[in-house]
Amino acid sequence: MHFLDDSLLPENQEKLVIQVAPYGPQWLPGDSDDIPVSMEEQVQKAVDCYNAGATVLHVHVREADGKGSKRLSMFNEMLARLREAVPKMVLQVGGSISFAPEDEGQAAKWLADDTRHMLAELQPKPDQVTVAINTSQMNVMELMTEADVAGTSLANPAIQAAYRDMIVPSNPSWHVEHIKRLVAKGIQPHFMLGNMTGLETVERLIRAGVYHGPLILNYVAIGGGAAGLHPADMIEFVRRTPDGAVLTIETLNRTVFPMSAMAIALGLHVRVGIEDTLYGPNGQRATSVQQIETMVRIARELNREVATGEDAHRIYQTGTFWNSADETLARLGMVPNRKPTQRGVPLRPAA
Ligand SMILES: [Zn+2]
Repeated sequence: MHFLDDSLLPENQEKLVIQVAPYGPQWLPGDSDDIPVSMEEQVQKAVDCYNAGATVLHVHVREADGKGSKRLSMFNEMLARLREAVPKMVLQVGGSISFAPEDEGQAAKWLADDTRHMLAELQPKPDQVTVAINTSQMNVMELMTEADVAGTSLANPAIQAAYRDMIVPSNPSWHVEHIKRLVAKGIQPHFMLGNMTGLETVERLIRAGVYHGPLILNYVAIGGGAAGLHPADMIEFVRRTPDGAVLTIETLNRTVFPMSAMAIALGLHVRVGIEDTLYGPNGQRATSVQQIETMVRIARELNREVATGEDAHRIYQTGTFWNSADETLARLGMVPNRKPTQRGVPLRPAA
């Protein structure tokens, strides 16, 4: 992204889109007072987050017994209720779910490896599904301190060991097919990128014409295979992000607050919620709503406007897809693909 002399002035920055992840599937209901379990509580949490200023909802669903749901039907029910309760929010389903077949017909239709493609079959369809690019380690324990997990299920060494070895599977054969299926259903892929190599792969997919549409990104700085917390890495990622992309900074634990403060100052967007941290900047427990309120306060201090639901849809360009690699590169402000025999940096001809 380019920064002109006046790019840090709030009136020249896009309004702030606050993503919230209030469901925290890695936690058990006893880990926090802020974990909604029943369908009604989960929907109410979305309403509370929207009223506090969040306009993008990262959706996971819990079963009545408190466990993370793997049933497509539960997600469909939740999405239908969310469309009623928070009609202006951008609904973003977390793409890490492997749905379990609910009957023999589904078991026959979906091979085990393919069950994540069922995200493209959600009905009503969400605005977005998150897509990780390239298989990577997701050791969320690496940056966790004892204080971060004290009094939660993640303090249990056996559970820690399982989370330490967690892998995000996204081989090229899978993510290329997945992007195609999402786009065919009009669902926007929201790319979750742990470092520059992921951004480079997405750029290659765009240049090769595999994906043509708005480039909506989270920089996921959670360590353990993804980027860590060095601000220079974040700044370099920002520098390498195309001008027309929409970039949100995501990290975990109390670092969410200083990293988000930098993101707000830079004109980027933020993500908060108990999926990322149970604590506020002072080390005291903070609910998802309180975390949103903190973001709104920081934005106000810098005179940065907070996006409404309509703004969030406009900024994210939900439901928008383009026709070719050339159009996508142009709309994102990226240099065109090289033409045969062309030397030097390929520039866009003046109209
Ligand atoms: Zn998630």
